[in-house]
Amino acid sequence: MEKLIYFDNAATTFPKPEEVYRRVDHVLRNVGGNPGRSGHRMALSANRVILDARDSVAGLLNIEDSSRVVFTSGATEALNLGIKGFLRPGDHVITSGMEHNAVVRPLRAMERKGVQVTKVKCSPEGFLDPGDIKKAIRRDTRLIVIIHASNVTGTINPVKEIGEIARERGVKLLVDAAQTAGALPIDVVRDNIDMLACAGHKSLFGLQGTGFLYISPDIQLEPIKEGGTGGASDMDEVPETLPERFEAGTMNTPGIGGLGAGVEFILREGLEKIRSHEAGLTDRLIRGLLNIEKVIVYGPRDSGRQVGVVSFNINGKDPSDVGFILDSSFGIMARVGLHCAPDAHKTVGTFPHGTVRLSPGYFNTVEEMDVVVDAVNKIASL
Ligand code: PMP
Repeated sequence: MEKLIYFDNAATTFPKPEEVYRRVDHVLRNVGGNPGRSGHRMALSANRVILDARDSVAGLLNIEDSSRVVFTSGATEALNLGIKGFLRPGDHVITSGMEHNAVVRPLRAMERKGVQVTKVKCSPEGFLDPGDIKKAIRRDTRLIVIIHASNVTGTINPVKEIGEIARERGVKLLVDAAQTAGALPIDVVRDNIDMLACAGHKSLFGLQGTGFLYISPDIQLEPIKEGGTGGASDMDEVPETLPERFEAGTMNTPGIGGLGAGVEFILREGLEKIRSHEAGLTDRLIRGLLNIEKVIVYGPRDSGRQVGVVSFNINGKDPSDVGFILDSSFGIMARVGLHCAPDAHKTVGTFPHGTVRLSPGYFNTVEEMDVVVDAVNKIASL
């Protein structure tokens, strides 16, 4: 069989560490019950799976109270909760020109409800200048929502500095860490983060359909969904206590168990080791691509300032055609187009056609980088 090379880890990581597969299988086969519902032993074991995963996530991100980690179906739901649960008509919110539609669209929906939005421009490489955020703060600004690293160019934003500005001015900070949780060190205390939205299925190695929102004790949020929480069932409102307040409905126990195993893998392996392997792959890929005539690489083009996300185009070729040939002729899985982030492509200058995105992950090898560069070289000379 043809050897396939998976280069779409920014969409979702593949493969997962072995222990993730084992944990999901174990939870499905042996745990079985519904967490937080019933007092029988299988329900209690399911509860344990969720609690352990919550503790692992909290440990990775320096979250003191793990009950402030609310599991969601992904970064999208986490961002919707952080944005819609926090903002009220009349509020002003600041965001950037590099955001994913998981931020752009909920903010647009809130604009229709009387929230005002300022989009701060970024450089063509995708960098956000904290000074520009400072200038955009008004008396009615309540929230800053920014992407930690771009899913188009990989560009890393100075979250800590932006957090300091937010803190000084009494504004809250919501960070979209979909591309960074598990890939870069994040410490919610050191980085002055009030809310952190994460995908479970990318660099945290969990399953698709998992994610979470960290909510600091200084944040008051309204739930965006109501339903059964397993306890306080006599009340017709969701309870005040976290995490139940934001976790109505049956939890995705196998998925969350898998996410917990993914985080344990990272803690055991060491984030530094993971980051350094991915940075090495990213630099090799960028250098290889830059050597090809007709290839344009977007973003910082430097692993010190970006995560493992590399966008490029071949002059005169449509990105979808390049993606199609990569897959059909070379067995290489890339993602093409706008990557659900049209604003980022407007900033970079690649709207509306987009780019070809290669996103190496921890399980890719140096040899695979060279195979991909060789394939792009061949396509460029067609
Ligand atoms: N934000 C960014 C930067 C992303 O890359 C993604 C995933 N493409 C999301 C948000 C949405 O994440 P999820 O698919 O987990 O809802």
